[in-house]
Amino acid sequence: MSTFLPQMDPDPEERQEELSQAQQDYQFNYDTYVSPLAVASCVPKGQGFALGWLVKVAERALMILANFIEWEVDKHKRDEMHKKEREFARHLATGSIKPDAVLRYVLEALEAKVKEQARSLDDYADMFRIIGLPPISRDFQEDRVFAWMRVAGPNPLVIEKVTSDGLPDNFPVTGAMYTSVMPGDTLEAAIAEGRLYLANYEALDNLTAGTVDELPKFLYAPLALFAVEKATKDLLPVAIQAEQKPGPKNPIFTPNDSFNWMIAKTIVEMADGNYHETVSHLGRTHLFVEPFVVTTHRQLSTRHPLFLLLSPHFQGTLVINNSAVESLIAPGGVVDQVMAPTIEDVWKVTVEGVESFLVDDVMLPNTFKTRGVDNANELPNYPYRDDSMMYWEAIHDWVDAYVRIYYPSDDTLKDDAEAQRWFAELVAEDGGRVKGLHGNPGSVDYLIEVLTLVIYTGSVQHAAVNFPQYDLMSYVPNMPGAAYKARPEELEGATEQDFLATLPPMTEAMKQMNFLFLLGSVHYTTLGNYGLFHFRDRKVRAPLKAFRSRLKNIGDIIELRNKERRPYKFLVPSGVPQSINI
Ligand code: MN
Repeated sequence: MSTFLPQMDPDPEERQEELSQAQQDYQFNYDTYVSPLAVASCVPKGQGFALGWLVKVAERALMILANFIEWEVDKHKRDEMHKKEREFARHLATGSIKPDAVLRYVLEALEAKVKEQARSLDDYADMFRIIGLPPISRDFQEDRVFAWMRVAGPNPLVIEKVTSDGLPDNFPVTGAMYTSVMPGDTLEAAIAEGRLYLANYEALDNLTAGTVDELPKFLYAPLALFAVEKATKDLLPVAIQAEQKPGPKNPIFTPNDSFNWMIAKTIVEMADGNYHETVSHLGRTHLFVEPFVVTTHRQLSTRHPLFLLLSPHFQGTLVINNSAVESLIAPGGVVDQVMAPTIEDVWKVTVEGVESFLVDDVMLPNTFKTRGVDNANELPNYPYRDDSMMYWEAIHDWVDAYVRIYYPSDDTLKDDAEAQRWFAELVAEDGGRVKGLHGNPGSVDYLIEVLTLVIYTGSVQHAAVNFPQYDLMSYVPNMPGAAYKARPEELEGATEQDFLATLPPMTEAMKQMNFLFLLGSVHYTTLGNYGLFHFRDRKVRAPLKAFRSRLKNIGDIIELRNKERRPYKFLVPSGVPQSINI
């Protein structure tokens, strides 16, 4: 459609009428499980699940069902259920059944009855009958894979450089410990050369672990130390302390400690997975973008050039967030069952994660600088950093070129009453409650930064945290949602049985697998594909073409990089959707 800034619109009255209607349809609610965060009060008309999306989800659901039947159902009932499942698949393909009906049927059929503990790791791999077994199952126990998870896993956002100030006081790793793991190297040299890195999960400290079917769950807030090996430049784990407060019953484990070490690594993966789902995924992508969606509809006319730019990056976000907030994280819901904290603490840590995500501090390049991980000479292998930064720059340049078509100067922005109200409402207490954002934009430069962050978060950042859910989190031993046995308090003595008892029982493992396979395998829309007639303004053609060819180029570079490194495929352009919709 044709776009105008409000000060240039030939029909300001019609524009105002349209906005007044939108302000009725789109309102904020602060009183949900994630209170006091601002979410939409309802899913407005036109914002429901798209049919194409529902079909994809229903197809995945049938795959989950087929897989489940093979795993769980008695031989004699199996044939009958398979018949039903194939019938549904056929109807779905021809459009003769509503995807919602398929989803309802699958949810009812997925009632697991076995409650036993795994006898060996094979029991977890054996759950993948129709759903493909993720390759991580083959080598997740290796130390270098454990380190790789910190720079290319679902949550590559925690690791930070240890500066000359040294390690935190509550993590007393000694020089002798370090050298025992890294022969020929010293702790001092590693710090001085920028080769020492820390993953600290203190955000999870003081959370209460929940229960499921009366089984107690366990959760810890560990610290894990890593070093870039001098010769190979590989990142390797050095030491793990399971809880924040040091002491004789909270020993520092090293790779020399056999199954105690394996359990310590599992505690870190579990902490990382819980931090991932609450803070990095639900909080800092889904819920972070939500107020931008609502305020954009309330304050920008659909004729506003910024509305046109943003709306494809908001498709499906309100409705998926609505079901996340109302059912996924409801008491007794799947998050309550498979993740470690009580559901109240899931809400608490999610809210804290959003409220501490300050817009002016979290522009992507800053996040690497703040954690001291921006230097590729010191930390050469950081796939998430290297790939995400290419996108940040490409999106930034695209937004810059687009925005400057309409705002030749800061004065034009000052004269744009809708853009001014957009900023004001985003930060307002009775508006979006977005933290760390200026309510008064001031400059076009600042507007470009903010739009870049919003589009990047809704597309690339969400892809980086969402799609590893299948590849890296559905095979449960790699990243269990919770621990089911108290951690060891001694350096040695744990057995393989202790390790297996730490992992989720079969029922909870199946739920984690089904849920994360579904969330991690539905790709709907592709970044940069706005549709032929979305932008009608001829001036947009050249910058859009440049953006799209940039994305293609990024794809070529990632493909080359993936030949040289352990493949990091979550940011391949064809797999990055336009918006948060799953
Ligand atoms: Mn998601």
